[in-house]
Amino acid sequence: QAIAKGRRWALHDEEAARAIGQKQNLLVELEQAIEFGNIWTVYQPKWNLREDRLEGAEALVRWEHPERGIISPEIFIPILEKAGRIDELTLNVLKNALDDLSIWSARQSGLSCSVNISAQLLGNDAFIEKAIAMVGAVNTGDGHVIFEVTETAALADLQRSILALKRIREAGISVSIDDYGTGQSTMSYLQRLPIDEIKIDQSFVKTMIADDSNRLMVKSTIELAKALNLKVVAEGVESQPCLDMLSGLGCDVGQGWHISKPIPSEVFERSWLKAAAT
Ligand code: C2E
Ligand code: CA
Ligand code: CA
Ligand code: CA
Repeated sequence: QAIAKGRRWALHDEEAARAIGQKQNLLVELEQAIEFGNIWTVYQPKWNLREDRLEGAEALVRWEHPERGIISPEIFIPILEKAGRIDELTLNVLKNALDDLSIWSARQSGLSCSVNISAQLLGNDAFIEKAIAMVGAVNTGDGHVIFEVTETAALADLQRSILALKRIREAGISVSIDDYGTGQSTMSYLQRLPIDEIKIDQSFVKTMIADDSNRLMVKSTIELAKALNLKVVAEGVESQPCLDMLSGLGCDVGQGWHISKPIPSEVFERSWLKAAAT
C-alpha cells in the first residue's frame, strides 16, 4: 500500500514537473516572440447601436507558435501574469494599437481603440506612467484610447485601483469595466470607481434570447449604466435577434461575431473604414 502510494506520488510529481517544464518553455518562447515581434494584434469592431455607425475596435493579442500554431491568449496571458512579465506584452499591444488608431483617425474621426490591462498592472506605477506617456505622444483626442480592466481586478484592491484609474483618466484615457457581471460588483462599488464604460460579459449576452435571467441581467445592467451615466457595451453579440434586442433595450454599443470576428488591421481598414476620399 505504502509503495503504491509512493508510486502514485512519484507519477504525480513527474506529471507536475512536465507541466511546469512546458510552461517554462512556453515562457521562454513567449519572451523571444515578444522580442522578435512574433506577437501581433487583431481588432474586433465595435458598433454604435444608437447611431448605427462604427464606434471603434478592441485590440486582442495573437501569438502563432512555430510548432503549436495559434495559442489562445487565455493560455499565454496567465503565464505572463504569473511570471510578472505582462507589462512588456501590454506595452507592445498598446504601441500597435496607437499606431493603428493614428492611421484610422486620420481617415475617419471619432474612432476609439480599447486595450486590455491586466489586474496586476493597476498596481504597477512604472507601467502606468509608461502607458500614459505613450498615449500622450499620439494625438488621438481625449477618450479615444480605452483601457479595459476586469471587474475582479478593479475590486481586488479598491483604494489602489481608484487611485490608478483616476491617474489614467486624468491623462485623457477612458476606463471600461470588462467582463461585467462575472464578479462581485454592486452598485455602490461601481459608483465609487472612476470609470466611463461597462462591458457586459458575453456569457449573459450570448444567451439572452433564450434565457430569461440572463436577459434580465443585461436589461438591468443597461439601466444601471444609464443611471450612473456610463456608456454600456455588450460583447458576444452572435446573432441579429440579439443585436435587435440590445438596440431595443437602449444598449449603446455591440461587439461580437455577428458584427465581426477579430481581424487584422489591414482588413479593418479595408472593410470597416469609410472609403478614402479620391
Ligand atoms: P476579452 O477581453 O473578454 O475579449 C473578448 C474575447 O471574446 C476575445 O477572445 C474575442 O475574440 C471573443 N469574442 C468576441 N466576440 C465573440 C462572440 O460573439 N462569441 C464568442 N464566443 N466569442 C467572442 P480572445 O481574443 O481569444 O481573447 C481572450 C481573452 O484574452 C480576452 O477576453 C482578454 O481577457 C485576454 N486578452 C486578449 N488580448 C489581451 C491583451 O492584449 N492583454 C491582456 N492582458 N489580455 C488580453
Ligand atoms: Ca476585453
Ligand atoms: Ca470581456
Ligand atoms: Ca473574458
